[in-house]
Amino acid sequence: MSSSGAQPSIFSRIVAREIPATIVAETEHIIAFLDVAPKAPVHVVVTTKDPQYQNVVELAAGNPTLLAELVAVAERIAAERTNGQFRLVFNTGVAAGQTVFHVHAHVLGSSTPTDSLGEDSLGAL
Ligand code: 5GP
Repeated sequence: MSSSGAQPSIFSRIVAREIPATIVAETEHIIAFLDVAPKAPVHVVVTTKDPQYQNVVELAAGNPTLLAELVAVAERIAAERTNGQFRLVFNTGVAAGQTVFHVHAHVLGSSTPTDSLGEDSLGAL
């Protein structure tokens, strides 16, 4: 399903380099950048360049291969930037905290070996 609004999503504008972001990974279909309002020491948004899927359920149904690629990029980012333990969060729906209706995952973690992520980092999303 495509996005209902006529305006491109904020993430499409990042893909188009219309607004700045700190891009940390990019493939043909996926882009990842630092979240502008981080909820954890490591907080990276991983999204599809194609804006047609609003959430992870739509992406899983419509293009599972692309979902697998998104998860693989997220795992690579976590391996590079965290202590190896991380959260991969897909907010799905307004009541769950989703604010951008262009499918994306949050990679949340800590770069130091001893830090653990409290519940706040998930609850605050
Ligand atoms: P959601 O709330 O939809 O799960 O996640 C959207 C995320 O996008 C939020 O964590 C928010 O901080 C982030 N975000 C919103 N606008 C921008 C932006 O312009 N640049 C960046 N880097 N992140 C953004």
